[in-house]
Amino acid sequence: QGGDESISTDRMLVLARVRPLNQNEKDDEDAGEVVVYVKGADDSVAHLKQCIIGVNLEGMQNSHKSEKEYRLDGVFAPDADQEEIFNATVPLLRAALSGYNATIFTYGQTGTGKTHTMLGHDLWALAAEIGNEVSDFSEDRGRRGIIPRALQYVFKQIRVMESATSPSWLRRKDKNSDRTFMSGAKKKDNNEVGAKILVSVSYTEIYNEKVRDLLAVKEETSIYTTPNMTGVGAANLSTPSKGSRRGSGYFGEMAAEETSLEIREDKNLGIVVPNLTEISVESEEEIFQVLWKGAQNRAMASTNMNERSSRSHTILGVRLTVNHGGIIRRSKINLVDLAGSERYKTHQMAQFSEQRIKELTSINQSLSALGNCISALTGRQKSHVPYRNSKLTRLLQDSLGGNCRTMFIVTVSPSAASCEETISTLQFADRAMKV
Ligand code: ADP
Ligand code: MG
Repeated sequence: QGGDESISTDRMLVLARVRPLNQNEKDDEDAGEVVVYVKGADDSVAHLKQCIIGVNLEGMQNSHKSEKEYRLDGVFAPDADQEEIFNATVPLLRAALSGYNATIFTYGQTGTGKTHTMLGHDLWALAAEIGNEVSDFSEDRGRRGIIPRALQYVFKQIRVMESATSPSWLRRKDKNSDRTFMSGAKKKDNNEVGAKILVSVSYTEIYNEKVRDLLAVKEETSIYTTPNMTGVGAANLSTPSKGSRRGSGYFGEMAAEETSLEIREDKNLGIVVPNLTEISVESEEEIFQVLWKGAQNRAMASTNMNERSSRSHTILGVRLTVNHGGIIRRSKINLVDLAGSERYKTHQMAQFSEQRIKELTSINQSLSALGNCISALTGRQKSHVPYRNSKLTRLLQDSLGGNCRTMFIVTVSPSAASCEETISTLQFADRAMKV
């Protein structure tokens, strides 16, 4: 397995975000009651410093306690804006730019703000409306979630790194360059001096334990690109595309049902998904095209976008390849919008269709596999982390344990009506706090 020695001493970061009451909740007498509170609130202090979230249980049946409180790394009250949430993720982005894998999850009940937090715009709903253009998504910048802000940040940092922060031993100073060159740098490769950073993205959906490529296209070659830097893209090209998903595209739910991308472990590259489309991007605007394409692909594959997006995990993989004068360092940022974590009682399940039960079962399986991996990572025997129990944990294996930084943002509703789900979400957060 490897990687155990390199486990970062920084543990997982766990944040919670409480959304405001929505109109439906406000209109309902019971649901309109706010039971979630944030403690240590001090308006002069950043929201991140308010790290106790509590649930008032007074109105709840069978409860012996009057409240339950959880201490997390940070709690965002309903009035926190998208920028504040994004700011909390910056340390992970910095880590990714210096060679760590970084993964940010949004976890919570459907309707609590996972997609709002991760993406900001409801891209899925926009994509479902025929005729919408990508420009609809570029508007209203304040609403942008972690994904667009993170990429904007990454590109900004890249510009800085490419121009100014190449290591001093590689930096050429005006005409006396020879003297600033030290051992290790190859003098002949003058053109390679300075950092060159490539960004490529993949967009994956895990639905019913099937891994789908949201960027797959009908035409074999049209958008598939490989960064032309040594070694990059090898993950995609190393395996012949037998039964390739690439090229088949989405032909509705039926066709999509049949195929799942394979997840493999490569000795050098770690977890790889052969045939997964990776698109190199050079600006944040290009990212929107990619996200938009993914959303449209998914819109084509499902009859009900909202339901589909709450029943599948969506993973935006951002691969960074930093070339410092021929020394190549790779890292990856995974931005994961998880499927809704809500649980159903047996009597509720009885009314569901077979398809729905299948969906819920695979969501439950993968979210509990995620929880189990998290628990196992708290133990001493890191080698027994059960990554293979779900596609999600397998895919993110080298981003959960090992040389990586991980953040969970759990989202909750403030409403009394969601009390049970909120507690179960916060218990998940509590477990992650121990990793
Ligand atoms: P999820 O992805 O968890 O199912 P969404 O992100 O789709 O939930 O959010 C459900 C609805 O609530 C959306 O209309 C979204 O715009 C709104 N919403 C979620 N979080 C917030 C927030 N913090 N502030 C304002 N509106 C929010
Ligand atoms: Mg969502």
